[in-house]
Amino acid sequence: MGRLFLVSLEGKIYSCKHCQAHLALVDDIVSRSFHCRHGKAYLFNKVVNVTAGIKEDRMMMTGLHTVSDIFCVGCGAIVGWKYEAAHEKAQKYKEGKIVLERFKLTGPDGSRYWVTHDAHMGGSDADDA
Ligand SMILES: [Zn+2]
Repeated sequence: MGRLFLVSLEGKIYSCKHCQAHLALVDDIVSRSFHCRHGKAYLFNKVVNVTAGIKEDRMMMTGLHTVSDIFCVGCGAIVGWKYEAAHEKAQKYKEGKIVLERFKLTGPDGSRYWVTHDAHMGGSDADDA
C-alpha cells in the first residue's frame, strides 16, 4: 500500500466506500436535502482526505455555481463537489462547503446507500428545498 497521510476523524464518520478513508463527520452535515445524479447527497461544512479538481461553472437546480469536483486522496474516486462560488445571493451560504454523494460513502453504522435507478439524469444538481 501507499504511504499516503490520511487524517483520522473521531465520532460518527462517513468514509469512502472504496478505501475506507475517513471523509466527514455526521456533526458537520449542513443539509441532507441535496441531490446528485445518482440520488441523495449531503452538504458538509468540512471534509477531510479530499483534493479538489479544476473549477468550472455549472448550472444547477438552484442557479449558476462555480464548483470543483473533489476526489478521495486514498483511492482517487470522485466523491462529490465543492462550491467555490455561488452566483445567486440566496445560495451564498454554500460557498466553501462540500457535497458528498451518499452512494460513494459508507455510513457511521457501516451502512451503504445503493444507487436508485429512477434518479433523473443530467448533471450534478443541488437542491436546498
Ligand atoms: Zn477512497
